[in-house]
Amino acid sequence: MSDARSQLQDAARIVIKLGSKVVTTPDGAVDEDHLTHLAEQVAELTRAGKQIVLVTSGAIRAGRAHLGIRDQSLDLPARQATAAVGQIELMWRYREIFGKFGQPTAQVLLTQLELSDFRRYLHLRNTLSTLLREYHVVPVLNENDSVSADGVQIGENDRLAAVVASKLEADLLLSLSDVPGYYNGDPNRDPKAELIPVVREITPEMEKAALDSGGPAGRGGMRTKLDSAELAMNAGVIMVIAHGREPNVIRRIMAGEEVGTIFLPKAEKLRSRKRWIAYAALPKGRITVDQGAAKALLEAGKSLLPVGVTTVEGNFEAGDMVSVMVDEAGRRREIARGLANYNSADLKRIQGCRSKDIPKRLGHRDFDEAIHRDNLVLL
Ligand code: GLU
Repeated sequence: MSDARSQLQDAARIVIKLGSKVVTTPDGAVDEDHLTHLAEQVAELTRAGKQIVLVTSGAIRAGRAHLGIRDQSLDLPARQATAAVGQIELMWRYREIFGKFGQPTAQVLLTQLELSDFRRYLHLRNTLSTLLREYHVVPVLNENDSVSADGVQIGENDRLAAVVASKLEADLLLSLSDVPGYYNGDPNRDPKAELIPVVREITPEMEKAALDSGGPAGRGGMRTKLDSAELAMNAGVIMVIAHGREPNVIRRIMAGEEVGTIFLPKAEKLRSRKRWIAYAALPKGRITVDQGAAKALLEAGKSLLPVGVTTVEGNFEAGDMVSVMVDEAGRRREIARGLANYNSADLKRIQGCRSKDIPKRLGHRDFDEAIHRDNLVLL
């Protein structure tokens, strides 16, 4: 077992993308047997304390099958409508099948907006974090195809899964579809094309070759997979591409077996995780905290609670990035940056206040924390 592969067993947060043909049968119906096989493996991981986020495709195929539509060339409104039908077909099965293993699931549908608009993204992040950490639920994500303004494209979920994995700082992204891995040629046309077990860098030649393999499969095929591998690697997330119908594929990958292709980010990228929070934007405000709160953040890995906040400066909205400062012998020092749960006006009203007293001051309490640990980077 290679070193690179042996570290996979330590991955704590894993995003698993399941392609349409992995979760549906050739006639498009949800494949209960195979989904059961996958669910069993996922439940094993959650029982071992790992956090799993699923990204599923298959809504359009399942919707088409449910309505008995044979036409393969549906226009956009028809695809968006079939996705609306198929999504509940999918989720119903996910709920039933994962339920057999005692694993609750949740549906989260996303469009580009949730990933690009900071405030929406903050809510998404908090929702996923609560599902994973507090409720031990497996969130099942898909693009919200029925309302997505970008059209519904095969291969979109590769990108979605990579963006989610990078933003949630997952350790590992498993892309399970109908291709066994990355080849150094097009295996459909070139019998000499070989599967490459390890990729450490995506070169311009690889990108060009993936473009050339184009075709309808190209869309959900290598091109989007390479794009998402690049996105993942840049964010310090390891990605494995493997065939989702290979028996025990998740178990085997996690056990370090050489299945599919592993894409390894550079060590420095792994360290640079969370940097985007720290450096992607200029802080919109400053929160000064007392010694107790500073200690809780720096030494105990805690969230920042309003009770520890002594001053709030600047005008910021919930979701904006702010600096966290501490007074040390009259000198202020920046110790962390993070995404504020409350806007500056509300935070001023609740500074120094115990979380249980927040409703008295604000009339509501959406969050206990001023900045959640997950959205905080120590500097
Ligand atoms: N969201 C689409 C569906 O569920 C699939 C997109 C993709 O395969 O990447 O049908």
